[in-house]
Amino acid sequence: MPRPILATIDLAAMRHNLAQARARAGRRRVWAIVKANAYGHGIERAVRAFADADGLGLLDLAEAQRARDAGWRKPILLLEGIFEPADLALVDALRLTAVVHGFEQIEMLERHRPAQPIDVYLKLNTGMNRLGFGAADTPRALARLEALPHVRVVSLMTHFANAERDDARFGRAAPAEQLRAFEALAESWRGERCLANSAALFLQPSIGGDAVRPGIALYGATPDATVSAASLGLRAAMTLRSRLIGVQQLQAGDAVGYGSHFVAPRPMRIGVVACGYADGYPRHAPNGTPVAVDGVRVGTVGRVSMDMLCVDLTDLPAARVGSEVELWGSRVPVDEVASAAGTVGYQLLCALAQRVPVVEV
Ligand SMILES: *Cc1c(COP(=O)(O)O)cnc(C)c1O
Repeated sequence: MPRPILATIDLAAMRHNLAQARARAGRRRVWAIVKANAYGHGIERAVRAFADADGLGLLDLAEAQRARDAGWRKPILLLEGIFEPADLALVDALRLTAVVHGFEQIEMLERHRPAQPIDVYLKLNTGMNRLGFGAADTPRALARLEALPHVRVVSLMTHFANAERDDARFGRAAPAEQLRAFEALAESWRGERCLANSAALFLQPSIGGDAVRPGIALYGATPDATVSAASLGLRAAMTLRSRLIGVQQLQAGDAVGYGSHFVAPRPMRIGVVACGYADGYPRHAPNGTPVAVDGVRVGTVGRVSMDMLCVDLTDLPAARVGSEVELWGSRVPVDEVASAAGTVGYQLLCALAQRVPVVEV
């Protein structure tokens, strides 16, 4: 009998979330972002669930290959572009659209003469200060690319540092300021614009453009901890379940787990769940992090260990070894677990461990 932990991926929820994104996108094209193994959900599943998207966005050539092998025929956007000249052969072979964010990539394109033209998205740095050309370099970058007969610059793009909220305290990285910087750089540009991630798409309707790039929302988690995924019309795609494998009766003053981070204030029953940080559950989850046992929400007690964590069964006298536990999913939003542990749903979904078996529903 295998260890009783299992992640289920709900393809219908992924389709539903894509439809929600599309409704918000209006006439804009939708790139479904599937980097990091589709945020832990599996590239091949994403290929099926997001069949209605206009394209897939990712950044790993091996994942692009997997998407093509799984039958994806529509465009694939390579979000960080190429890393070395040898990558251009795969961009050709897999017919990828490549982001260009730096002069090193332009040099590689200048030296390469592929059989077919390569479609390029030029990435502008409008205030996030991660990747992209700034005000001083954009005209030169665009001119050099447009001089290449084998390169077609089809879109300008940028990425928002704070798309969830337009707040002046973000200074030049406030969405309105980034948008202003983008429009200044794109003033004479007649092609497309690609702007919105999930937060911009769901929370900043004034951020327009011709194409959007939602990621996290497609998996049913929130792009902003102050807004629940459910209130955005999203459904959890991944549910992580396990079972109780032990029950302990504690006396007042008894401690639980490594470091004795929880001390029972009174006699209580606790359950031991077959899920730990080696499964991707956050070790920093504090006492009281929500968990559902037999469908009822209770809280964790004690430090999460590699293979186990403990939960308070005081309100669940019927719970016993074998009782079902939902760590996150439709009853316990991954965003609540993440928030308790000081992180974001993105990280928990992406970090689902290899050792956890995954099935589709
Ligand atoms: C990851 C990523 C996205 C998607 O972001 P979400 O917050 O998951 O919607 C969009 N654009 C770029 C460039 C990205 O790297």
